[in-house]
Amino acid sequence: MEILKLKGKSALITGGNSGIGFGIAKAVGLAGASVLIIGRNEEKNKRAINELTKLNIYCSAEKFDLSKYRKVPSFFEKIQKKYGIFDILINCAGTTIRKRADLMTIDEWLSVIDTNLTSTFVITTKWASSLIKKNKPGVCLIILSLMSEVARPTTSAYGASKSALRQLVKSFAVDWAKFNIRVNGISPGYIKTELTEPLYTNKQFAEWVVSRTPLGRWGCPDDIGPVAVFLCSNDAGFITGHTIFVDGGFLASL
Ligand code: NDP
Repeated sequence: MEILKLKGKSALITGGNSGIGFGIAKAVGLAGASVLIIGRNEEKNKRAINELTKLNIYCSAEKFDLSKYRKVPSFFEKIQKKYGIFDILINCAGTTIRKRADLMTIDEWLSVIDTNLTSTFVITTKWASSLIKKNKPGVCLIILSLMSEVARPTTSAYGASKSALRQLVKSFAVDWAKFNIRVNGISPGYIKTELTEPLYTNKQFAEWVVSRTPLGRWGCPDDIGPVAVFLCSNDAGFITGHTIFVDGGFLASL
């Protein structure tokens, strides 16, 4: 078994400056890949780079707002010119607006769809097109959600974006398999991060998650990182178009 499973690879990780994305950046970096993270907040980017550097991970950050999806192609070309073609693309940036469906405005709906879904489509197609032109293999991951499969109140835009992404995993996988580009999804269960702070600080909700999850706890970003390393490595060389649920058994139980 190789230990540095991603040695010599370069990984672009959107949303790599905090939460699940940071957990993935750490795991992928410790597995030998160089890492470029993308986020809007420069302070968070700097903090993440400091932490990753302390672990001897070769890393950089770029500030960019992915909700501006029409600007993604020129941004992507700029970073590709600066850092080279990325072997690995991990789409983790994501957002939500928690509101009952009938109370959401069109702009709120679009802001979630633009960030989670459209920007993922645009950046991933740009990335794949570069690999295809150079005849290079690649691996892409998309971070999905339990809401790709099920709903709970106040998740209409988020759930619509995440279930569409689950389908996009399959569409990308079958479009690009012949170019040796693999695409898979990871669906985390309830993970303690900035995004879920309003949920885990709500005692009743936090206890419901624990009681509803067969493994009896909230997840943490370090639960996701090793799964990302596996899917990006040659150990998963015959896996594409698939989604792994890292949810403590949540979806398996009623
Ligand atoms: P965090 O809030 O910790 O991370 C979100 C990340 O996305 C940050 O790095 C943030 O950086 C980045 N981001 C958000 N909007 C944009 C944008 N417009 N442009 C660029 N970057 C952006 O939350 P999580 O770690 O929980 O979320 C990461 C992913 O995991 C999301 O896709 C989420 O849907 C998914 N997920 C989370 C679950 C959980 O329980 N936590 C469960 C299932 C899925 P910055 O603020 O600097 O822009």
